[in-house]
Amino acid sequence: MKACYCDSLKAYEKCCEPFLLGKKIPKSALELMRSRYSAYVLRKGQYLYDTCSTKLKNIDDIKSMNEQNINWLSLKVQSFKNNEVVFMAYYKEKNEILVLKEKSLFITEDKKIVYDSGEMLPAQIERNEICPCGSGKKYKKCCR
Ligand SMILES: [Zn+2]
Ligand SMILES: [Zn+2]
Repeated sequence: MKACYCDSLKAYEKCCEPFLLGKKIPKSALELMRSRYSAYVLRKGQYLYDTCSTKLKNIDDIKSMNEQNINWLSLKVQSFKNNEVVFMAYYKEKNEILVLKEKSLFITEDKKIVYDSGEMLPAQIERNEICPCGSGKKYKKCCR
């Protein structure tokens, strides 16, 4: 079994894959947010395009999403209520591990939940946190 990218602890085939293949439609903002993270990991620009609101849709994004040079490491969902999800996403760029924290807002368009806007929040990797690289060591003793 392949664990899903989105931190759900479920198997990929039973989690985000059906969404990315268009076989199922996410029923909550949280499911959609998780599946969009998996789409970032897998460079599925078309899915990211399809799941954002009309005002955000930009056909040029598909290409740039597919060519992004970021190595996504992991996702941590911090809170979720109604149409709002706060998450941290860890990634590696060049040789540095970075984190971004975002409050995402979702709306319903044509009976489908879509991503509508995001607000960046300050975030940092704590010294005593388990390193996002997956080594199991503390961050301060690993990639810092
Ligand atoms: Zn998933
Ligand atoms: Zn590390």
